[in-house]
Amino acid sequence: MEAAALRVGRAPATIRLLGATKSVDIARIRTAIQAGLALCGENRLQEALPKIESLKGLPVEWHFIGRLQRRKVKAVVGRFRMIQSVEDLELAEEIQRRSEEAGIDQPVLLEVNIGSEASKGGFEPHALERAMPELLAMRRLRIQGLMTIPPPEDDPERARPHFRRLRELAQSLARRDLPGLSMAELSMGMSHDYAVAIEEGATIVRIGTALFGTRSEHP
Ligand SMILES: *Cc1c(COP(=O)(O)O)cnc(C)c1O
Repeated sequence: MEAAALRVGRAPATIRLLGATKSVDIARIRTAIQAGLALCGENRLQEALPKIESLKGLPVEWHFIGRLQRRKVKAVVGRFRMIQSVEDLELAEEIQRRSEEAGIDQPVLLEVNIGSEASKGGFEPHALERAMPELLAMRRLRIQGLMTIPPPEDDPERARPHFRRLRELAQSLARRDLPGLSMAELSMGMSHDYAVAIEEGATIVRIGTALFGTRSEHP
């Protein structure tokens, strides 16, 4: 991470490592936190809750990074420091509603379907620009930036144009000077392409396999 940052003249401290801890057991997550991991991302609520409970008190921030069903929003709001995977207006509205009920502000990232893949959730780039006024009217959502999972590619260089496009989208939104909007965070890059993502401006990289090894499909 540091080498990639220095290659493009970025300060390494401005990039955070998020451990993607799906299917990783509590003991190994604890070890990672003790070794300095400060951010953990979970994809499924049921799997995350016992981990958050067992590791309470340790210096770690939990982020929700998976597909979030609307009926689970109530349990996620306030429990996760950030919801990175806000993929459409309906989900945003539910987070707004549940946050309002709980009397809290919820930091979020907007997930962008940067490769316009039919199989993936997330805002299409132009749809996101159009949805901005509605999103900003949801006063309990604290929008901190964008997140993306680019189309799968063997060669990380082929992810570069997608990462660049996400950065340019964030920059164009930031230039509109919309009140209440922060585009400070760009969550992009995983085990095989994080270096390229950092070169293109990532502030959070989400790493599973490269930290914890290959996942079994049925934990
Ligand atoms: C699992 C996961 C990652 C990490 O993927 P690796 O290739 O194992 O590093 C990153 N982001 C999301 C949303 C994930 O679900």
